[in-house]
Amino acid sequence: MATWICPECGQEVLAEEKPSFKWSDGHTCNFVEESTLRNRPKVDSFEVWLEKVDEELGRAVALSSEDLPDWNYRSAYDNGFTPKEVATQILLEGGL
Ligand SMILES: [Zn+2]
Repeated sequence: MATWICPECGQEVLAEEKPSFKWSDGHTCNFVEESTLRNRPKVDSFEVWLEKVDEELGRAVALSSEDLPDWNYRSAYDNGFTPKEVATQILLEGGL
């Protein structure tokens, strides 16, 4: 069994394999295994990390975090998610 955490809503789920949750408000949890997150060193400050999220978003679509103000970046950062995982979640969310 592993614990899985969603980068956006912080939802935790116990499951053998990566779960898939789609909520009625349109949010889809893109879970990452907690043990992976825990072993990651925090290399960037929140500001630098956020810039990297913007880079990832800018590479995929012409958007930045400022176009997506409702996203829970702080919690994703604190939980140890990478900018790439966050960008993936945001794109999944927006159907982009
Ligand atoms: Zn979620």
